[in-house]
Amino acid sequence: MNVRLAETAGFCYGVERAVSTVYDEISAGGRKIYTYGPIVHNDTVTGELEAKGVGVIGSAEELKRMADSGELDGASVIIRAHGVGKDIFAILEKAPGDVRVIDATCPFVKKIHQTVIRHKAAGEKILVTGTASHPEVIGILGQIGNDAVVIESIRDAENLNIDKDARYCLVSQTTFNVQKFQDIIDILKKKLYDVNIVDTICNATQLRQREARALSRECDAMIVIGGKHSSNTAKLFDICSKECSMTYFIESLQDFTEKLDSSVRCVGITAGASTPKTIIQEVLRYVRDEF
Ligand code: SF4
Repeated sequence: MNVRLAETAGFCYGVERAVSTVYDEISAGGRKIYTYGPIVHNDTVTGELEAKGVGVIGSAEELKRMADSGELDGASVIIRAHGVGKDIFAILEKAPGDVRVIDATCPFVKKIHQTVIRHKAAGEKILVTGTASHPEVIGILGQIGNDAVVIESIRDAENLNIDKDARYCLVSQTTFNVQKFQDIIDILKKKLYDVNIVDTICNATQLRQREARALSRECDAMIVIGGKHSSNTAKLFDICSKECSMTYFIESLQDFTEKLDSSVRCVGITAGASTPKTIIQEVLRYVRDEF
């Protein structure tokens, strides 16, 4: 049995950076630590952090309540790689007492924030391809007072009401599907006279998706590891399933209950951006030893 691990499997730069930020703050000691939303979509990592006393603030309302009541005095609040809107920073700035705000927004997401702010200031209407309910998209919109249109699908692009006299700027959620982004651009170019297209899909995602597609074409079975709520892992699963009918989506080794039969000669393994190395190595070792 040939077992092949994708080189791009696992934590991307932004997630690695955000998770290390939390561990650095734990090491610094002396403060209660919160992350605004789970730092990664991975229960193993968040469970470990919880055991170390790191709290998760689940919503803007909860943050506001804690800030207003003084509960954040003496605490550190870490903004995860997805980033947040200006409203969240405003709540934290107004919070009484000593609140340490640590911004671990991925620099690539920060760049999107700067892009939409600049283009909106230049009078352009902002379009964002992505999932409207995804925290990264909420954060992007929150940078410009939610004055943007989110395009989730080809149909949204086709149905977009346009102002023929306006200038537009299109950016994307970093984890958006590359092909779908291109298809949406093709539709928009026919409808819009003046559109600045800024491709903000993260290279890490593109490389991971490309490698997963290639690997799943060459393997008899594919294992995609990642959190059940991770959108980038779900997209990887989609891509691999199209190329390889025997594709499994697991969060950790415990979920892998399949018995691969002897006709399977090659197994490919990839993992989403929020999957820690320890879990990937565990699955890799198991498949190598068992089959
Ligand atoms: Fe940053 Fe890219 Fe990772 Fe998103 S996928 S956190 S943009 S490195």
